Amino acid sequence: MNRTILLIAMTALALFAGCNNKQHADLIVHNAVVYTVDESFSQAEAFAVKDGHFIAVGTNDEILQHYTADSLIDAKGAPIYPGFMDGHCHFKSLGETMIRYADLVGCTSFDEVIQRLQEHAAKHPSQWLLGRGWDQNLWPGKQFPDNKLLNKLFPDRYVAITRIDGHMGLVNDHLLQLMHFDSPTGLLLDAPYDSVKAAIPRLTRQEQCQALMAAQQACFANGLTGVSDAGLSVEDILLIDSLQQRGDLLIKVNAMLNPDERTLQHFLPHGPVHKERLAVCSIKLYADGALGSRGANLLEPYSDDPDNRGLQIYSLCYYDSLCRMAYDAGFQVCTHAIGDAGVRNILHAYSSVLKGSNDRRWRIEHSQIVHPDDFHLFGENNIIPSIQSTHATSDMAWAEERIGKRVKNAYAYQRLLQQNGWVVNGTDFPIEHISPLYTFYAAVSRQNLEGQPVGGWQPEDSITRQQALRSITCWVAKGYFEEDRKGSIEKGKEADFVILEQDIMIIPLKEIPSTGIRRLFISGSEVPVK
Ligand SMILES: [Zn+2]
Repeated sequence: MNRTILLIAMTALALFAGCNNKQHADLIVHNAVVYTVDESFSQAEAFAVKDGHFIAVGTNDEILQHYTADSLIDAKGAPIYPGFMDGHCHFKSLGETMIRYADLVGCTSFDEVIQRLQEHAAKHPSQWLLGRGWDQNLWPGKQFPDNKLLNKLFPDRYVAITRIDGHMGLVNDHLLQLMHFDSPTGLLLDAPYDSVKAAIPRLTRQEQCQALMAAQQACFANGLTGVSDAGLSVEDILLIDSLQQRGDLLIKVNAMLNPDERTLQHFLPHGPVHKERLAVCSIKLYADGALGSRGANLLEPYSDDPDNRGLQIYSLCYYDSLCRMAYDAGFQVCTHAIGDAGVRNILHAYSSVLKGSNDRRWRIEHSQIVHPDDFHLFGENNIIPSIQSTHATSDMAWAEERIGKRVKNAYAYQRLLQQNGWVVNGTDFPIEHISPLYTFYAAVSRQNLEGQPVGGWQPEDSITRQQALRSITCWVAKGYFEEDRKGSIEKGKEADFVILEQDIMIIPLKEIPSTGIRRLFISGSEVPVK
């Protein structure tokens, strides 16, 4: 054999071997703009996925030369991000709302209310017909409705439709009789309407399953691969676990525990749980109410209600004893605190247990109004602010009326972020819209969907696009101790990712909220976004 032939033979052999050496993956995605959201915020073009995890991330050449897969996606230059996560929401209650209540928000007449109710009634033939969200201020004449039409159309069903603020409802005569109430119009306020709400039967197990599946689909449609549900009972969590194990519920859930005895006794003795799709590692507490209804606990009275400083829900020793219990069991504490007094109480309760630098990642949910003297306590005790950036743009129209100059230290997301170098972000849905793109947009622009105000509201507390992307991906994972498993597109991590229609890191701000979700993957498997 002469030299040339030998060389050719060796080259062929090398090529053949190279071919055979290609590692097999389940899925390859290439020709993309991949925001890995790793430590250095690097970009890539392609990645390979096997057994639900990223096994390689790199350039098109690197991935295509070294890997083969049955499934190959050419992203055609589309941007890809880690799957979005909501760090504070009410996943289960979103589902219940979706399957149970006719959505009456935005109806511009009582006729439209009736029409939507009839559509809902046709789809939900249950004995109770429920709706929520009507507002007579949007109707011609702005008159409160009566129940005559409800009696005529639904004589055999119990009908209750709740006003937008939740404090008033319209019920039909059939339901009035059941409740032994007398009302000529069917309109009920606070206490009587609360007893109507209390009489609504609990969802059956099957309905609860439907609700969770409906909530999951809404999350998928918005690019979410994970949610942190801020307060669930042991029954709720066991149901979610069983649906996940059956393969019905694919979304990843971080379940915060309601502080009731049954729930705590079930979970605390065994320590935090980190399963494939379910985490249970925190207890959810409430320090105070909300700003809109003047329930937030303030150090000084409300600017528009001089005799009122809001409410503190429990005595300080309640928080102290629950915090110590959580600490000893290795659990995190996540406490809802809105007013500056509520936030201060919780900062002090946490600090006296945490005693300075630590990695317990105890959180203050909302952290909405913070006294300027108190910001440093977040950093000194590694207390993590859990923010909802759309709260700033939803509340900006009236927040100053409530709290006057204190508003300058409210929704102070950049200052809060500086305390520990990271924050958890979310929506509190169904209070706010579910979309993480709205969260991203509000965090960066400090504007509402109409682009107001120009330049943004208190823009010094906006956060950068890079920070905002971290706040809905890896920082949410970090917020429940799973940043080594998810929240970024890196070798070894779970292959949760979203392909968008446009690149939210570079397009004009106003285009962000309407950006389409093209495809979504959880642990390497595609899930429907429509
Ligand atoms: Zn909440």
